[in-house]
Amino acid sequence: MIKIGFFDTKPYDKKWFSQINEKYGFNIKFYESKLNPDTASMSKGCEAVIAFVNDTINQEVIDILVQNGVKLIAMRCAGYNNIDFKYAYGRIHVVRVPDYSPYAVAEHALAMLLTLNRKIHRAYIRTKEFNFNISGLEGFDVHGKTVGVIGTGKIGRTFMNVIAGLGPKIIAYDPYPVPNSDINYVSLETLFKESDIISLHCPLSKDTRYIINKETLSQMKDGVFIINTSRGALIDSEALLEAIKERKVGGACLDVYEEESDLFFEDASGEILDDDVLARLISMPNVIITSHQAFLTNEALNNIAETTLKNIDEFINGNPLQNELCYKCISKMYDKTHKEKRCFEIGCEVLK
Ligand code: NAD
Repeated sequence: MIKIGFFDTKPYDKKWFSQINEKYGFNIKFYESKLNPDTASMSKGCEAVIAFVNDTINQEVIDILVQNGVKLIAMRCAGYNNIDFKYAYGRIHVVRVPDYSPYAVAEHALAMLLTLNRKIHRAYIRTKEFNFNISGLEGFDVHGKTVGVIGTGKIGRTFMNVIAGLGPKIIAYDPYPVPNSDINYVSLETLFKESDIISLHCPLSKDTRYIINKETLSQMKDGVFIINTSRGALIDSEALLEAIKERKVGGACLDVYEEESDLFFEDASGEILDDDVLARLISMPNVIITSHQAFLTNEALNNIAETTLKNIDEFINGNPLQNELCYKCISKMYDKTHKEKRCFEIGCEVLK
């Protein structure tokens, strides 16, 4: 029976993967530990490992996996910034789940915005204590405001669709605009200058790291709301904290945080938090933090398990990998030719 190592397991993962695995019959070993240099040795005898957003997939881990005979890293997520792709090239295949539910993330972004703007989180606590005072709970109409969307991929476009129902003006920035679309693209500078609400939907890369920083924050409107459901390091958190203290930023909705890896998904309620920036952000009345849960709907979890196990099944059966990634052809992910072949076995540079 094909053995697969599953890292950073949570109860909801076990439930959905066990259910979908009934049709594949893989021998899945569920480990609670994250995949990192200390735990990679647990992959011995596994054909593939299933990993997640806060696992560390660096050179050391890749070497251990390869030595252990692992041939495939199956990411059960869309993002892939935690993998040393250049090093993986030619050594181990990597697949991901590109499209499990843009609705889950887009709806969460909207939920955070409306909660923070209309102070639902504070009203909930007040009425739980029979405090029916509404002073201090003022918000604004999203109708008529300008919403700036950075990254118009699957989630960014879904977010534009869901927020459009509220009647804002929507502008967007993406270095790779959707051709022939009716999206109102503007430069990044214009987006920063004109938006009342900015929502981040681009991947984390060397180009987008700290796209929100001291300088870009200074270009924004006073009172701007910022939503980040993409990756924490798109925002320089210290600069954001300063901008909140200076009343420049009116609200921040953060589902991700640059130093989240040891905290998010875990219960640290009995511990002393070492991260002063995070502690201060959490203490702000105009900041809402959720711990990387934007993807967490039943539909998304079902699709993640379905696609991850299908990716592994394609690999085991020697088929082309529909959802493979490598650093040479990353921009060709949706290329049809590519889907008929496997990365690096055919030399992806031919596709560049
Ligand atoms: P996608 O690949 O469909 O879209 C990403 C878009 O970003 C593309 O249109 C791309 O052209 C654009 N882009 C690339 N470089 C850019 C840049 N420098 N500036 C602006 N835009 C740029 O991806 P998606 O499925 O829409 O997901 C977006 C991101 O959401 C993922 O990268 C991931 O980090 C994050 N995500 C978070 C969760 C969560 O639970 N919080 C879940 C899924 C995905």
